[in-house]
Amino acid sequence: MNNDRREFLKKGFLGVSAAAFIPGVIKGSPATAATSASQADLPARVLGRTGIQAPLISLGASGAITPSFIKGAYNAGIKLFFSATYYGEGNNEIIIGEALKDFPRDSFVVATAAPCNEVDNRTGLLTDKFSAKAYLEKAEGSLRRFGLDQIDIILFPYASKRETVCNEEILRTMEQLKQQGKVRFTGIASHGGTEEALDAAASTGIYDIAMISYNFKLQNREALDAAIAKASASGMGIVAMKTTAGAFRNKSGPGISSDAALKWALQNANISTIVSGMTTAEQIQKNLAMIKNLKMTEAEMAELKNALAFSETGLFCQQCGQCLAQCPASLDIPMIMRGYMYAYGYKNLLQARNTLAASGLPAAPCADCKSCRVKCSSGFDVRGKIQDIARLVKVPEDFLLT
Ligand code: SF4
Ligand code: SF4
Repeated sequence: MNNDRREFLKKGFLGVSAAAFIPGVIKGSPATAATSASQADLPARVLGRTGIQAPLISLGASGAITPSFIKGAYNAGIKLFFSATYYGEGNNEIIIGEALKDFPRDSFVVATAAPCNEVDNRTGLLTDKFSAKAYLEKAEGSLRRFGLDQIDIILFPYASKRETVCNEEILRTMEQLKQQGKVRFTGIASHGGTEEALDAAASTGIYDIAMISYNFKLQNREALDAAIAKASASGMGIVAMKTTAGAFRNKSGPGISSDAALKWALQNANISTIVSGMTTAEQIQKNLAMIKNLKMTEAEMAELKNALAFSETGLFCQQCGQCLAQCPASLDIPMIMRGYMYAYGYKNLLQARNTLAASGLPAAPCADCKSCRVKCSSGFDVRGKIQDIARLVKVPEDFLLT
């Protein structure tokens, strides 16, 4: 392990005892009308200025394909449900709305990521003038699919560039959505370029929440932690995703201890909740049990050290974007690598397929290249991974829904 990694782990583990239970940050939610009986038993943190008491684990619902699973998650204590307009081409929002419709409206929180058509996901930059009308219609579509009068949180995804996050038309539209009562809170979601996106979002005072990649494998953790602290101090609630860094060390395992990885992320008291893409009742029960004791065991610390020292490149793409300019075919390699991770790491083939579709992956990628020109900063065999995962695009979606 190199010095940087040693230092990185040291900082993470030193924070364990000091930050594990900061008074006023973690507390059991009071049993109010906004809290189900199961939620009341769970440690929760306040989600920034939204005031939402968020149990430390929330559901990333991309792999939820039935209302009964969502209902089961709610009954187990999950309060925040994260969807996206593009999950299952909108069907995911329908499933969530159907599942939650009979529960008290103030006992759950629904969030959805709604990308705008004018942003190039690869660069995070606007390619055309932002269309407020189209974005408002997109939010209306989500409202209809959820069957709700109001969405709790709308997230502007693929946020990385200041000029996009701070675009005046976009900010006006976000405010308009709130003024019209269609959404309660707005936020950004960011996989890469997160420090810049956080700093920009916090400066506007308009985004209430940021959902960001955060895990023990991130190479830019120091800068990211500083940006998180600044955004949090400005009143933004921070939600972490990709916390298990791909869940497996490589395509065929071994796995990374999810308890260790999730606990590690929660040592940062500025993280209010983790969005976990749980797809089974067992995963939900395991994670809800885990958050009741965040103290990391020696074995868990050793597990993360081993995962960091593992010589292979692993599944987690840092989303640094360095590959983008190197590929003559302009493939959205970071997003394709996320699709690869969803398939082989999170075993969520549906999300993997949706992600590949969103990346615009052509039918025969890399066909015009004799050899790959991309030198990945993480050492990925980019062409090999693309060839491998491209097979999934041809699998009919029905096979992935069973
Ligand atoms: S260079 Fe490698 S780590 Fe960086 S975004 Fe591209 S694939 Fe991911
Ligand atoms: S082989 Fe490499 S450079 Fe060529 S299209 Fe594929 S990823 Fe891009």
